[in-house]
Amino acid sequence: MTGFQTFYDFKSLQRFISSFKKKPSVGVVPTMGALHVGHLSLIDKALNENDLVVVTIFVNPKQFNNPKDLENYPRVPESDLSLLRKYKRVAVCMPEEKDVYPSDDPYKKVSLGLLDTVLEGKFRPGHFAGVAHVVHNLIYFIKAQSAYFGLKDIQQLSVIKRMVSETQLPVKVVPCETVRDKSGMALSSRNLLLSQDDYRDATIIFKTLDFVRQKIKEERPEDVKKKAIELFSSGSLQLEYLEFINQNSFEPYETGDDDGACCIAAYCDGVRLIDNILL
Ligand code: AMP
Repeated sequence: MTGFQTFYDFKSLQRFISSFKKKPSVGVVPTMGALHVGHLSLIDKALNENDLVVVTIFVNPKQFNNPKDLENYPRVPESDLSLLRKYKRVAVCMPEEKDVYPSDDPYKKVSLGLLDTVLEGKFRPGHFAGVAHVVHNLIYFIKAQSAYFGLKDIQQLSVIKRMVSETQLPVKVVPCETVRDKSGMALSSRNLLLSQDDYRDATIIFKTLDFVRQKIKEERPEDVKKKAIELFSSGSLQLEYLEFINQNSFEPYETGDDDGACCIAAYCDGVRLIDNILL
């Protein structure tokens, strides 16, 4: 297996994959770039389970419901490539939009049901349709056997599982733990848009999630939710939602549910942040 390589279209990536004497198992890590240690943890997991890992860097216009958000999304390809250069069995693919969405697009739209109408689905109309589409096409054109996604975007993970099952794409979807800094803040590309003060203020998200995790076994969900919102409101962020759900169905959480999660979305000085914790 050779060192790090970069490709700008799927055809040359496929030529590279076919050049191996023995067909490699391929894992894909889809990203929008501005890479951090959270992304690297997905790559490490994928390297443990595959011969070759393809990291895609593509800021997908279809998943941005807000044009300003798309415009402001951090793009740092040089520093991304320098972070990835140390890997021996990694190929980077930075495709163009016309390659990801060709005129003979292979994707047949799937229905996302409740996932498209609650939490992220409710507040970012069209977002998950765009996510399902891009992830389908990336896996389809790369012909990956496994695909790695962070639990940080827990609803996105459910959307992808559903898309894979509906389209019968032959790929294993692998969930990966959220990587946090010392304060508990989930690493995110969007954190690059925060000032130092904003960053400190944003730690209220994890403090609130941690509070919920401690209280949810002892008190009624509606009481915990009320207190959690009070705690969150002691900080300076604008809360969009704080909800308890079942992480598989995204139906409301019920006491005793082993698959519960608490999800938060909030704005910190105009930057939209999301995080969650399993209950
Ligand atoms: P993004 O570049 O933000 O689209 O993220 C690409 C992938 O990395 C997605 O599967 C995310 O869920 C995952 N990811 C983002 N942040 C983290 C984190 N802090 N820990 C683990 N995975 C993450």
